[in-house]
Amino acid sequence: MIDGDATSPLRAVLRAVVARDPHERSFHRAVHDVFASLGPLCEEHPEYAEAGVFARLVEAERQLLFRVPWVDDLGAVRVQRGYRVGWSSALGPYKGGLRFHPKVDLAGIKALAFEQTVKNALTGLAIGGAKGGADFDPKGKSQGEVMRFCQSFMTVLHHHLGEHEDVPAGDMGVGERELGFMYGQYLRLTRRYEAGALTGKGVGWGGSAGRTQATGYGAVYFLEHALHERDEALRGKRAVVSGSGNVAIYAMEKLAELGATVVACSDSSGTIVDEEGIDVELVKALKERRRERLSVYADERSHAEYRDGAAVWDVPCDLALPCATQDELAEHDARQLVGNGCMAVAEGANMPCTTEAIDVFREAGTVFCPGKAANAGGVSVSVLEMQQNARRETWSFDRVDARLHEVMHDVFRRCHETAEAYGSPRDYAVGANVAGVRRVAEAMLALGVT
Ligand code: NDP
Repeated sequence: MIDGDATSPLRAVLRAVVARDPHERSFHRAVHDVFASLGPLCEEHPEYAEAGVFARLVEAERQLLFRVPWVDDLGAVRVQRGYRVGWSSALGPYKGGLRFHPKVDLAGIKALAFEQTVKNALTGLAIGGAKGGADFDPKGKSQGEVMRFCQSFMTVLHHHLGEHEDVPAGDMGVGERELGFMYGQYLRLTRRYEAGALTGKGVGWGGSAGRTQATGYGAVYFLEHALHERDEALRGKRAVVSGSGNVAIYAMEKLAELGATVVACSDSSGTIVDEEGIDVELVKALKERRRERLSVYADERSHAEYRDGAAVWDVPCDLALPCATQDELAEHDARQLVGNGCMAVAEGANMPCTTEAIDVFREAGTVFCPGKAANAGGVSVSVLEMQQNARRETWSFDRVDARLHEVMHDVFRRCHETAEAYGSPRDYAVGANVAGVRRVAEAMLALGVT
């Protein structure tokens, strides 16, 4: 709930958001979840509301909605919708991933772009917030189909990109393969080798060492700090991780490296339970190279169990890391986790826990690491990639990882200290929302009404 009386500026802005686009429920929720933390900030800084900061913060600076026609392998013309929402450039160029998934729509992209703006501010780096994508499903498509789609998508988008304007990266359904096809088309259209126009590139063609691992590793670093603050450690803990994509794989890899045992992971079809510890190299081979379903894992590891259609949440664990998709962990899943003794939840994905699930964790005193803080490692290493591109440098994996460690420590410290200062000790969601919004708001005040 949003604090304050019915006339509070935050409530008024939220009402206006709902009235303006009544059908955009995922966007309403994103705004509500951030605004619910901002009561004390709003009281402390009446100048924000007076300058219309909150009203401006819930409106994108620009939204691109475009047709993406492509030809499939049978010669049929197909048409997808492409999106790129530039939310805020108060702190730097637009920065945020591109998602290819059949459920992508404008409300979802707006929600993610708004979240990204708060997240990027929280990193302390000089980047604004954005998100984009298309209702295209790369699953089951041939290499040629994916390439033609990516080229068509970039044919429209390239007009709006550049290191000083908007720098997309990958997200669900957009990995190194898709980014390669898009970057190739960008180079062909612009005739300029501007490596800084896109991040998440392959290491051999302008990418940064450690970008692939950054989001998953970063989420585990954040969790490690949160546990350490309670005199706990990862070593010896049982963990479950949802998903088996980029974020999930590298979260599992780092958890195992730091002494936890990951006993379950999933894809959108089902869950693998492996009491001996998930074989991350096998998951990488299945998902990154062979593009197989996760069920194949059980064919190759006879002691593992495949649960068709099941999620990971009812597998008993100490730590749960939702690393797959939005709204994948609902209230009943949260109760199940708490009932099984789960002590900490770290969101590798964006907005994977519903508002009700987060309330369950709050009531139970479960350590909760919100995505906008815990998964900030990916975008942070994207900034390191931009820095290397600008200086024509190539940094080692160890240098990037050391910097990722520092950034995640800073993000944790900001969340922790801000939560305490605003009367919600150890509530990292409050800490993240207040610290992120405050940094954007201060820049917006300084820049005048724009
Ligand atoms: P990928 O596309 O690489 O992987 C997504 C994974 O989630 C796949 O294994 C997919 O399975 C699985 N999945 C999808 N829906 C479900 C479901 N309902 N239940 C269980 N598993 C499911 O995406 P990423 O790993 O890149 O992204 C995952 C999340 O992390 C997203 O929310 C993204 O926004 C967020 N994120 C990603 C960053 C990055 O750097 N990549 C940065 C910050 C946040 P299947 O193959 O069956 O579809």
